[in-house]
Amino acid sequence: GIAIVWFRRDLRLQDHPALAAAAARHERVLPVYIHAPDEEGEWAPGAASRWWLHHSLDALQRDLHRHRGELHLRAGPSLQTLRALIESSGVEAVYWNRLYEPALVARDTEIKKALREQGLHVASFDAALWRNPWQVLTKQDEPYRVFTPFWRNLRAQLGDDPPLDTPSPLRLEKAEGSVTLDALELLPRLDWADGFGAHWTPGERGASDMLERFADDALRGYGELRDRPARTGTSRLSPHLHFGEITPRMARAALREHADAEGADKGLEPYLRELGWRDFAHHVMYHFPHSVERNLNERFDRFAWVEDDAALERWQQGRTGVPLVDAGMRELWATGWMHNRVRMIVASWLTKNMRQHWLKGARWFWDTLVDADLANNSLGWQWVAGSGVDAAPYFRIFNPVTQAQRFDADGEYIRRWVPELRDAPKKLLHEPWAQDGFASSCGYPLPMLDIKASRQRALDSYQDIRD
Ligand code: FAD
Repeated sequence: GIAIVWFRRDLRLQDHPALAAAAARHERVLPVYIHAPDEEGEWAPGAASRWWLHHSLDALQRDLHRHRGELHLRAGPSLQTLRALIESSGVEAVYWNRLYEPALVARDTEIKKALREQGLHVASFDAALWRNPWQVLTKQDEPYRVFTPFWRNLRAQLGDDPPLDTPSPLRLEKAEGSVTLDALELLPRLDWADGFGAHWTPGERGASDMLERFADDALRGYGELRDRPARTGTSRLSPHLHFGEITPRMARAALREHADAEGADKGLEPYLRELGWRDFAHHVMYHFPHSVERNLNERFDRFAWVEDDAALERWQQGRTGVPLVDAGMRELWATGWMHNRVRMIVASWLTKNMRQHWLKGARWFWDTLVDADLANNSLGWQWVAGSGVDAAPYFRIFNPVTQAQRFDADGEYIRRWVPELRDAPKKLLHEPWAQDGFASSCGYPLPMLDIKASRQRALDSYQDIRD
């Protein structure tokens, strides 16, 4: 009989447990993708994610053509669409890999139940994370709220299972009624994303090329250089991981092989630990599902957040007058990605110096990041705001000038993304306001807030919610 493999955010053929099981147990596999953004609640994919999704589906389509099949594309709702396919094509089973977003867990549970009641064989598989969120618990069987002990537990559980190969042979089935990729209208109408293609190649092949580049150029120095935003010192795999074009297991296997051969194993553990943060973020989202909308630390419900749309817009557009913050926001706009160190700094500027609610920043990132990921984004924002689990303490307010002097000392990153300051002398690059008239002579704004005074105001506001 035929098994549907319902592709979601696992847009690859290798290390795909649902596909492997379907190919092993059934005569033919019908690969299906259903676009159903309404089913993701408040967090339907943003514009940058849709750009990525379009190109990733296109890549998967081409990979399936190589196996003489095609990806059956449909618009949702998911359950009705699956049912229609089941009726018309003699399907006996439906397989998928798990997702962990609260709205999707609820949807998938319902679909599983409904299809089983109809007599179908339905199975879901583990593929996106190292371990499921319920497989890493404290001795008291509780979820973790602190990363280090979580990671110790998870690290000890990492086995040596190799990634699964692409099933061979892969006998694919086609069905009537597929729509074209263009009909899903994923690409943004604005031309803003047109330049993304220079930075990214969505799809399984693009992911493995990116991984290889990282293994060759950056793995060895990852521990030291991952905080330098001017370098390509990190893997830039985040969008590929989000869309499941590669799994942590595939990344680890490839990097290990490389590290053995090149003696680059120094970077491997710090890198695995960073992937551990990804599992931790999903763990927190799964066990504390309200954390994607609400402060985990309820004291922050009383925080005196500022409402100021004009100020928010200056931050979004990279016109705050603070060079490192503006460089980050412009990198985001131009490439759909921002370096992790700079994400922390722009988030600290918004939530602490500007005192705007972290959800405003999270929403902007949601729409503009190609790697927008509900678990990682919520954790990152709540961490910086100080309202989350294992959060930065309230008095940790990044100073964007000292951070720039430390991590972008010669200003390469700022010069790249803030062309107004390209020719600024080094001593003014990080503080263009330090000499009267200099910033305006470059056509660059003065800082929207005094760094010291706004820091003090933030500290005072935290005092108010402490008791
Ligand atoms: P690498 O350093 O090469 O790390 C490898 C992988 O580990 C990443 O691809 C990512 O999957 C995972 N990872 C690394 N750091 C973290 C982290 N702190 N938390 C969770 N996973 C991590 N990451 C996203 O994938 N999507 C988001 O929407 C997102 N929003 C963020 C918002 C804020 C305010 C902050 C501070 C961080 C956010 N991050 C997010 C985490 C991190 O910035 C990115 O994962 C990282 O910059 C991606 O670049 P990379 O792949 O080169 O990372």
